[in-house]
Amino acid sequence: PKEPADPFKQGWLKGVYNEKPVKDVHTRFPPEPNGYLHIGHAKAITVNFGFAKSYGGVCNLRFDDTNPAKEEERYFESIKEMVSWLGFTPHKITHSSDEFDQLYELAEELINRGKAYVCHCSGEEINQGRGGKEHGPRGVCKDWSRSAEDNLEDFRAMRDGKYKAGQALLRMKQFLAVKPEEYEVKEGDSAEEKKEKAKLKSRAENPALWDAAAYRVKDNNYHHKTGLKWRIYPTYEFTHCLCDSFEDITHSLCTTEFETLRPAYNWLLEALDHKVPESEEKGPMQREYGRLNVEGTILSKRRIAMLVEGTTIGGAPSASDLADDVDAIKLEEEGDAEPGVPSTAVPSGSGRKIPAVVRDWDDPRLFTLVALRRRGIPPGALKKFVLDLGVTKAGANTMTHTLDSVVRTYLERTVPRLMLVLDPIKVTFQNLPDDFLEERDVPFDPKDPAKGTHKVPFTKTIYIDRDDFREADDADFFRLTPGQSVGLLNAQYPIRAVSFSKDPATGKVSEIQAEYGEHVPAGKARIHWVGESAAHKSPVKAEARIFNSLFKTTKPNELDWKNGGYYDNVNPESEVVYHNAMVECGFHHVQQGAPWPKEEGEAHGTVDKSSVRFQGLRTAFFAEDKESTPEKVILNRIVSLREDAGK
Ligand code: ATP
Ligand code: MG
Ligand code: MG
Repeated sequence: PKEPADPFKQGWLKGVYNEKPVKDVHTRFPPEPNGYLHIGHAKAITVNFGFAKSYGGVCNLRFDDTNPAKEEERYFESIKEMVSWLGFTPHKITHSSDEFDQLYELAEELINRGKAYVCHCSGEEINQGRGGKEHGPRGVCKDWSRSAEDNLEDFRAMRDGKYKAGQALLRMKQFLAVKPEEYEVKEGDSAEEKKEKAKLKSRAENPALWDAAAYRVKDNNYHHKTGLKWRIYPTYEFTHCLCDSFEDITHSLCTTEFETLRPAYNWLLEALDHKVPESEEKGPMQREYGRLNVEGTILSKRRIAMLVEGTTIGGAPSASDLADDVDAIKLEEEGDAEPGVPSTAVPSGSGRKIPAVVRDWDDPRLFTLVALRRRGIPPGALKKFVLDLGVTKAGANTMTHTLDSVVRTYLERTVPRLMLVLDPIKVTFQNLPDDFLEERDVPFDPKDPAKGTHKVPFTKTIYIDRDDFREADDADFFRLTPGQSVGLLNAQYPIRAVSFSKDPATGKVSEIQAEYGEHVPAGKARIHWVGESAAHKSPVKAEARIFNSLFKTTKPNELDWKNGGYYDNVNPESEVVYHNAMVECGFHHVQQGAPWPKEEGEAHGTVDKSSVRFQGLRTAFFAEDKESTPEKVILNRIVSLREDAGK
């Protein structure tokens, strides 16, 4: 069979390579360790690691840990785990904080070169300097013209604790001082002059180059790696490009919201001789691809935290709100913008307590990577989903059900098939002896004999799904009724109901008396079942959790998050639990992993329960939950068999 085309060697990605066609491609995935990764990060991981791999290069995992207040050990661990789960191995694991000394040295160097200054403006004054409708023309402050010696001394004072957060900022001397007159095209300008002016204009009018902050003071300065050593921390703008250069990154791939920062990225590298102006020969090259955005779920960290922890409306601000330093010049957190839709359903009662909605950050209804893994989504399906959407400059906007459909197709031929009954009714065959046993040799995948077979016991007592039985005949119902026989998947003969009894307490059918054998007329349909046999350890009793979308609306980002209105939109059927489900004994084989090739990046079975996956015939795809034990098996529905299947 023909090898599928390498998605990294075509289209936009190929173009990026061709702009800098080096032999030793070196990329990096640079998460901020301030939360769990989500499905959008699967794109960033796949793009960075996949690109390097395709061109014979390597990719680093870099923790961009320059914001001490927000970082926690659990995030580092989880991020490492997710990269490896997706089947990638970092060439090196680095931390921006490993470079704090070197970064500091370079900040002094920048000052010595007259390209940075310590600024004591308030946030308001800085905004003023940036100009605009209320502020008039742009302009620099008095600190701009201080001498290098003066700046160096003041920067060291910043380092040594003379200032509190907000009282001093090291700023890069970029293009804030440039006046429009300097790039206004005049009569008689040569073509060369016009070109120069256009270049100057595009820089001078780019807010990312209005003397961005390089270092700021943090009051809450405990850092997980460097402790209390530093009171000043470098900004993203100062750190990222330099760390790329330290690590010999060739292609620095990031999302398009960083495109306006590209000139700032190059400016600093050029200012410190880490890059040659107008050339991609030396130093890293930044290029930007479109973000992955999935509709129908919530990806914002703050909102997921509300779902995980519960929240108090109108109460005191949370610790994480307080930790949000007001950096004078900072990148907007894109995913966290408040759409500000007013609530109609809920009064904004102050102090209203809203309980947690999900069990944790890995609740299978969420779209964090830990949640997708827990739900049983194979890492290969997730990478396919990302690449099928394409990697270009355009944002990849999609919906949760598109992921479901990719996963469904992926699982169709990659996981074994078993029989599982969600809501069992006991069926006893009157015409069979107590020790009746027919061992059926059942293929794990009827279309692929190479996957092997396993033995399934058919015995005097079996269980069928409540949905497959009706107490009365019905012309539109082709399965089991007292007057109608039905075929059994993987069994020799059909069955016929003779009578049934009900549980007086619940009014529900509790047992069906039936007949099995050659004499029973063929049924119009075939249903699944699970036989009872202690020798085969069948059935395996299980709790089966069926997940549906967490919210009733397909646009949960438009709900009222500020005033708690989101809570009323939670789908009461987002998790439906079947406590008495039963799986056939083939499940024991599937738990062992044989005979299926495991996914790249997964440690099958006990280590990684979510990799124990199967298709429950006529039911859905399932995976074992991480809390499942031999005493209490728990199964999660990965996805239904059809798009609009009920269960
Ligand atoms: P969020 O704010 O959504 O949690 P982030 O942008 O703060 O995400 P980082 O940890 O800073 O997350 O990101 C690490 C890398 O992942 C960055 O290069 C970023 O561009 C990329 N990334 C983040 N979200 C997405 C997304 N939705 N699609 C593609 N790449 C993404
Ligand atoms: Mg971030
Ligand atoms: Mg963000």
